[in-house]
Amino acid sequence: MLNGDRTDTGLAVAAAGPVSRSSKSPVSGIFVTSQTLTSSADPPIARNVVLLIGDGMGQSHRFAGQLLAAGRDGRLAMDRLPHLGQMGTMSIDPTTFVTDSAAAATAIATGVKTHNGSVSIDPEGRERTTILELAKASGRSAGLVSTCQITDATPAAFAAHVPHRADQSEVARQYIERAQVDVILGGGAAHWLPYGASLPPPLQVGGAWRGTGSEGDLIARARNLGYEFAADAAGLHRSLDRLHQEPGGLLLGLFAAQEFFKQAEEGWGAVYDPPVSLADLTSAAIDILSRNPHGFFLMVEESAIDRMAHRNNAPLTLKGVLELDRAVEVALAFADQTPDTLVVVTADHECGGLSVAGSEDQPYPYEPGGGLLDTLLAGEDGPFPVADADYGFVLGWATTGHTAASVPVSAVGPGSGLLSGSIENTDLFHAMAHAMDLAGHCARSSRS
Ligand SMILES: [Zn+2]
Repeated sequence: MLNGDRTDTGLAVAAAGPVSRSSKSPVSGIFVTSQTLTSSADPPIARNVVLLIGDGMGQSHRFAGQLLAAGRDGRLAMDRLPHLGQMGTMSIDPTTFVTDSAAAATAIATGVKTHNGSVSIDPEGRERTTILELAKASGRSAGLVSTCQITDATPAAFAAHVPHRADQSEVARQYIERAQVDVILGGGAAHWLPYGASLPPPLQVGGAWRGTGSEGDLIARARNLGYEFAADAAGLHRSLDRLHQEPGGLLLGLFAAQEFFKQAEEGWGAVYDPPVSLADLTSAAIDILSRNPHGFFLMVEESAIDRMAHRNNAPLTLKGVLELDRAVEVALAFADQTPDTLVVVTADHECGGLSVAGSEDQPYPYEPGGGLLDTLLAGEDGPFPVADADYGFVLGWATTGHTAASVPVSAVGPGSGLLSGSIENTDLFHAMAHAMDLAGHCARSSRS
């Protein structure tokens, strides 16, 4: 169905021309060459889509992760995908060109740019249909996985509509009562429980956290709606065993009161020790979702990359990149066995203005003995070892905030050719909708 004109759908396939950079309309985006469409050996339709987002992960984050884990001649899993594009991330916030995660995820999830802080609501205040909602309407299952609060901005934009990203309990309510997300795995249990309520037993360690929610006991509500609930790795395994008995099961796993990590500068108590690895959560989600013969849409987010980059904490930023890469390996292994699967690895925006330099680079102008002082003045982190060399690298930060740098987007599978070259974040929505043959649904979404 990828070949030929799609005049009935709104997703125009023109005879020639690059991927459009237009973001004015949710159906204006994709123009691909006929050569692109016919040169691929991929199946024509993506039954499944796995979208992996490294929050805040720019090109330098990926390159530094490669140097550390694979060396100068090795490649991360995310850098072995055949199609590579660079994606613009700017929002249309009236006060800045730099996006936040809410506006960025809204652009990816709905094809519409919006103000910072808005979750799948456009600048005119209208709810915009998301790629996850379209996938569900097509008969597919849907899942959200994150190392952050599962109701934080990035996952929220795929299955909820709120004017302000802080309204996380309302996001949780919409996940289970409205979008009916089949698999929900992440942190942020506090937002699912009434203010002051005790957390589920596995999360009561230290007793520091209590419920902070505004929508009642949403864990009990989820159970009433048929969700299996898990709060630790053992509980997840028990839930998976039960779900294997019954097709079409629903799964809610909340493995931390808030994030899977404690963000801080190096030496100030920063911790990143996930209670369940992102790879295991991704594997569990695919295990359940892939039981639907109509396919699934799954969004997987690694969030510590961004949060640690905000603190200019280089070691734990890199740990986040490698945590995501192991989840990418899980997705690629599934796609190897299931070729009608589109796998996309990208970021919502860059964080930190990160740069990578050699640890033995000479200062300019060169002055003998000036190296240490120059290193301190440059505010560098490291040196870190390069995996396949005897030298190291250092990281430099430009900011503790986000930047508007373009981010890499890597893809494999049906429709992945649409993501090569220079694209906007809104184009990613169109590419995924096109790959899943959701164009008819997409045309309807434009009237929302
Ligand atoms: Zn951020």
